[in-house]
Amino acid sequence: MADCIFCAMQRGEIPFVEVFSNNNLFAFMDIGPLNHGHILIVPKKHYANMFEVPVELGGELLETMQALGRGVMEATGAGGLNVVQNNFAPSGQAVFHVHWHLIPRFEGDGLLKWTPGKYDSNEQMQALAELIRKAVK
Ligand code: 5GP
Ligand code: ZN
Repeated sequence: MADCIFCAMQRGEIPFVEVFSNNNLFAFMDIGPLNHGHILIVPKKHYANMFEVPVELGGELLETMQALGRGVMEATGAGGLNVVQNNFAPSGQAVFHVHWHLIPRFEGDGLLKWTPGKYDSNEQMQALAELIRKAVK
């Protein structure tokens, strides 16, 4: 896709530091790492978000996440790893070519904290669960 930076990288138009590449996927150092060693895994074909990715790619994607996740942890000495994948702008997606963030985590690094909310009642949660079950196709 012409105006996509991850497609432009593959055409050699934007420099990047690669850590992995095969027929379907490539991975490189994130230019704005949340922690040093933060990488992105990206399908070579342009899919805007998770919902466009063919399910057939799922096995290879997981295998690659496991291999690269182990590599990131070993190389950085991280004790943990977050896998993050944003879909659509409200989620924080900024590059609309689907990608998985692998972020090494260190005890006490203070990253990715969130404040848990709560439902007003069990009924409210049950009603929403029912709406979700009905909406799943
Ligand atoms: P998103 O918010 O879409 O899930 O994440 C986009 C990620 O792409 C960000 O973490 C950002 O740092 C990274 N990124 C954006 N532009 C470039 C670039 O030109 N090179 C590299 N290596 N990473 C980029
Ligand atoms: Zn693209």
